[in-house]
Amino acid sequence: MAGHNKRHQVVIVGAGLGGLTAAAFLQRFGIDVHVYEKAPELKEIGAGINLDSNAIRVLLRLGITEEELMEVAVPLKEVWEFRNGNDGRVLYSEPFKKDFGAPHVVIHRGELHSLIKSKVTKDAITVNHGCVNVEQNNDGVQITFENGVTVEADVLIGADGGRSVVRNAVVDSPPKMRFWAAMYRSLVPIDQVPPSERVPNRTAWLGSRHFFMRYPVSGGKLLNIVGAVPRSHWEHNGPIDANVEDFLAEFTGWDENIQAMIGSAQETKLWPLYDMDPLERWSNNRITLLGDAAHLLLPFLGQGAAQAIEDAEVLAGNLKNLTKGTDLTEIFARYEGLRKPRASTVQFMARTIWNFIDPPYINSEVSSIPGDDIFNQYKSLFNMHEWLNGYDLQKDVVS
Ligand SMILES: Cc1cc2nc3c(=O)[nH]c(=O)nc-3n(C[C@H](O)[C@H](O)[C@H](O)COP(=O)(O)OP(=O)(O)OC[C@H]3O[C@@H](n4cnc5c(N)ncnc54)[C@H](O)[C@@H]3O)c2cc1C
Repeated sequence: MAGHNKRHQVVIVGAGLGGLTAAAFLQRFGIDVHVYEKAPELKEIGAGINLDSNAIRVLLRLGITEEELMEVAVPLKEVWEFRNGNDGRVLYSEPFKKDFGAPHVVIHRGELHSLIKSKVTKDAITVNHGCVNVEQNNDGVQITFENGVTVEADVLIGADGGRSVVRNAVVDSPPKMRFWAAMYRSLVPIDQVPPSERVPNRTAWLGSRHFFMRYPVSGGKLLNIVGAVPRSHWEHNGPIDANVEDFLAEFTGWDENIQAMIGSAQETKLWPLYDMDPLERWSNNRITLLGDAAHLLLPFLGQGAAQAIEDAEVLAGNLKNLTKGTDLTEIFARYEGLRKPRASTVQFMARTIWNFIDPPYINSEVSSIPGDDIFNQYKSLFNMHEWLNGYDLQKDVVS
């Protein structure tokens, strides 16, 4: 290939949670890897994020110590608590089980991103490089960025999120993005909310067409609050600044503690919630995908980041002995075989949960569903907690 600037064994497009986790593992295995990121700087963006023990075990293997993690994360005592949205009645609570072998935590996305980034050498990340085109032949992959720079690689990993550009070189036609709802997100000082809500657990209030959740982040100093609300379409490009009054109005008549928590917010953003059906494939010749690029999902299981982190360890483990002559078809088939069924199931379960809350038939047959009824449907998915958290990913990588 002519006109290139640099060549690496592996290039990763996207320095998000999945891309940086993959880069950190590949560097540990002595692979020459470089990450290119569209954003002009890697700053701390996002709000709170759930990290269940399936993801924590990966981070510990990456060399992030429990002490480093616990400086910013909050370990959960009750892994889940569900309440009725209208009157705040506790419907269910599930204490943390030690037998998963790692804590469940809640953490600010930016703080998690910084922790993972600290395990990648600085010279392996280049910002301000938005990928616009990808081409490949038997010799390698050529990646072109919007500033005109091109680089080459033996292997390209698309970790560029739900609107992935790299994905266009993998699938025959772009996947249909499905828009389901919108989600308000705010961070509020924990000392300003009712004392009963300052506890280290994640609690979901269930009610008709709406979902409210809160958990502490930033070492317990802030409370992350989110409220999912029905919307039929989204005309913006990404999240927008929104009004706290509108957030509050969506939960009028709900548990008064919800009103108090939203009322303590100074600002809020409204995010579009999209997912997509499982892709026909994740890889094509020298290119593969991970994280949201491969399996964009709704946030109702709190597994978006965890699935990206799992992908990263499995993929890096399979590329560990990468040389010029490595049979990538076999490696990617193994990676997809291990990851696609699990990630597709998580995609489906997260969508199912939103369909319990805002079922497609709601406007035609009924106008609202009581929170207790939503919870009774939700219970049918409870055995998933064992399956999600108890999963021993290392067994898969080793085998
Ligand atoms: C800003 C932000 C905030 C989020 N906040 C939350 C949250 O609070 N709670 C929660 O549960 N989930 C949140 N998510 C979603 C959750 O983080 C994802 O499910 C998870 O991060 C998936 O990891 P990923 O590496 O696949 O994608 P991401 O972490 O989204 O990373 C993708 C990266 O690719 C970069 N990129 C995109 N296109 C290109 C391109 N063409 N060229 C180069 N780089 C590109 C993006 O800038 C981004 O850095 C957030 C995602 C983002 C991007």
